Formats: sequence, structure tokens, C-alpha cells
Amino acid sequence: MGAPGCGKGTQSSLLASATGIDSISTGEILRQAAQESTADGLRLRQIMASGGLVDDATVCDAVISRIRNMQCGSGSLILDGFPRTLAQAKKLSRVLEALGIDPPLVLHLDVPTDILVQRLTRRRQCALCGAIYNLASASLARCEADGGPLIERADDNEEVILKRLAAYEMETLPVLDYYRRGREGSYRRVDGCLTAAEIANDVRDIVLLDRAAPVATWAGRIRSAPSQLSTSRIRSVPSGVTS
Ligand code: ADP
Repeated sequence: MGAPGCGKGTQSSLLASATGIDSISTGEILRQAAQESTADGLRLRQIMASGGLVDDATVCDAVISRIRNMQCGSGSLILDGFPRTLAQAKKLSRVLEALGIDPPLVLHLDVPTDILVQRLTRRRQCALCGAIYNLASASLARCEADGGPLIERADDNEEVILKRLAAYEMETLPVLDYYRRGREGSYRRVDGCLTAAEIANDVRDIVLLDRAAPVATWAGRIRSAPSQLSTSRIRSVPSGVTS
């Protein structure tokens, strides 16, 4: 969890690569749904373009069906951008409890607001693979991995960024408080101002140390002890990545 621009997307995909756990991004799911030429697609486009949050029912439906299916895979799932409201957090708790799944490990990527605004206004994304670049550190026109064009997200302009940050403060900070006070799951703060690779190492260490059962599962999947987990995917991320 964390504010827009904190690096959730970058870190989810690095953690997914390092551990083999599936990751889902509610932002990506909603952006895809918003492209449909239906009344629902239009509704989502308007909400997202304004910097507001999509209604809890739509988001919960999308995520919870994936949680129900996750037991077929590694038994773990990385949730990028969910929950973002107290109603979503409480719904998640109820669903996990009903399915007999442990409460979530909550990772808060903490980044000061001035840095977030700077990152978001400079953020570009590969139209093909979704890799994220920051123009300050890489003035590229094309993705280093696949040559795809780098585009600016429709909601990464200053006016909308400020609205997204306001929605975060109003709706999502109370969720972090909910987890920080130990109501559900275990809360960990991560310094989101380090480099992407350093944060990825911190995140991976916290996840591996904190979750004894998944560690056994991952060790089996990647045939390596936690301290020897391969970071090659992390190191191969373009230097400009920051989110
Ligand atoms: P960011 O975290 O930078 O805002 P995302 O890609 O995670 O980027 O989300 C983009 C947009 O998708 C949000 O501004 C919001 O409108 C919508 N969205 C994503 N996740 C949720 C959620 N859990 N609840 C409500 N709206 C969401």
C-alpha cells in the first residue's frame, strides 16, 4: 500500500518475479475495464480521469474472485492498490476469514508528498510491457526492454495528481491506521525513497521473514533458501525505474 507514485506497481512486479507469487493491480484491472466502449467503461474512465476512487463494489468484485482462485496457485497473492478504503479492508478481512486464509501482511511504501508529485509528473510507462520509467533519470523515448513507446498515463497531470493524493489522504490513510493499530494483518513500513532495487530487497526480506508458511512454498518453487533467493530479475530492471 502507499500513495500514488510510491512505487507499488514496480515493487509488486519485482516481488512477483523474485518469489513466483502472482500479483494483481487494481489500477491495471480498472484501466483495462475502462477501455471498453460500454456505459460501465465510460463511468470508470470518468472516475479515473478525475482522480477519484472507483466504488468499493466494483473493485471488491474484481479482487475477490482472484482471491478465491488463488488457492489453485502458490496459495499467496500480491495485492497492488487494494484495499484503498476502510470498507474494502473490512470486506477483505471477512473474505479471508471465511476462506480460512491468514490476515494480510501489509507493506506501506512510505514516500513524502513532494517527492510523489515530482515522480508522478515525470513518470512514463511502456505501452507494451508496462515497465515504468522516470524522465529525471532516463530521458528515453522507447522502453529499454522491448523498444515499446513510453507514454504518459492520462491521470499523471498535476491537477489530477493532487486530487489522487487528496483521495489517498482521505480514504487510504485511515486504512493504514487500521492495520497499524493491529486490527487485522501485520503492518510494516518500508522506506520508499531508496532505489527500486534496495526497496525490492527490503520488501522481499520482510515478506520472507514474516510469512513462515509461504517461505516453505517459495523455497520449493524456486529451490533456494530465502537468503539465496535470486535477485537477478531485480538487478535487470532498467536504471530509470522508480515509479
Ligand atoms: P495510483 O496508485 O498511482 O493512483 P493505480 O494504477 O494503482 O495508480 O490506480 C489508478 C486509479 O485506479 C486510481 O486513481 C483509482 O481511480 C482506481 N483504483 C485503483 N485501485 C482502487 C481501489 N482499490 N479502490 C478504488 N479505486 C481504485
